[in-house]
Amino acid sequence: MDCVIDVQDLHREFVTSKGWVHRKKERVKAVDGISFQVKRGEVFGLLGQNGAGKTTTIKMLITLLAPTKGKCEVLGFDTFSQEKKIRNRINFIFGGELGLYRRLSARDNLKYFACLYHIGQEEADSRTARILELVGLSEKADILVETFSKGMIQRLQIARGLLNDPEILFMDEPTVGLDPLGARMLRDIIRTLKEEGKTILLTTHYMYEADELCDRIAILNHGKLVAIDTPANLKKLAEEEEVIEIRL
Ligand code: ATP
Repeated sequence: MDCVIDVQDLHREFVTSKGWVHRKKERVKAVDGISFQVKRGEVFGLLGQNGAGKTTTIKMLITLLAPTKGKCEVLGFDTFSQEKKIRNRINFIFGGELGLYRRLSARDNLKYFACLYHIGQEEADSRTARILELVGLSEKADILVETFSKGMIQRLQIARGLLNDPEILFMDEPTVGLDPLGARMLRDIIRTLKEEGKTILLTTHYMYEADELCDRIAILNHGKLVAIDTPANLKKLAEEEEVIEIRL
């Protein structure tokens, strides 16, 4: 098995202060001892309600947050101490307009990011054209981003995330805030990427979405891993044992 993500007994705690007068310290176990592996070419879903620990897990995987305890390896490297060996080989899809330039066209945004990745001009032009086609934005390529709908912005974010041809693409709730048509278009893009063999780790609140897109799903609840399996097996488990509350 070509394992590209290896998480063992991963923990992340936050210490927050409460109250104005007697500032009381409170510990939040955002991620509480989870373990899982992701294989190359797999689409892996982290499913859970608000506050389950999905974003915190993704942040540790993309090297933005240090674990409190446990092993967190991506592409064979520790995400905290060896982050430089990982960063150019992965990418992360931000929500909303974050990182995009509203006063530039979609194509110019992508060319700018290609420049940051040190991709030569000729290669940048062909890569940009191919990726814009893949996300269905070829016809809007030369229009300013400030005129884009939420769905178009999210598709442009995916295009940006593909520029460096990442070995793993991380997506935190990619369809949140989109209308049904926008969400469907996004899921179609994710399916195309999956067919092309891209490894994807995504988070979602929706079982139907995880069921449609993912090879395997990990269900998180209050920082703990409740179940991890294929969508078909999780459905069976839910029917037989009612150990987890998932609606399909
Ligand atoms: P959502 O679906 O709402 O995005 P999530 O599953 O992504 O939720 P996280 O954002 O990982 O959940 O949060 C898990 C827990 O950790 C929550 O209780 C949250 O309040 C807490 N938390 C996350 N980041 C911080 C932080 N920087 N400081 C303090 N607590 C935090």
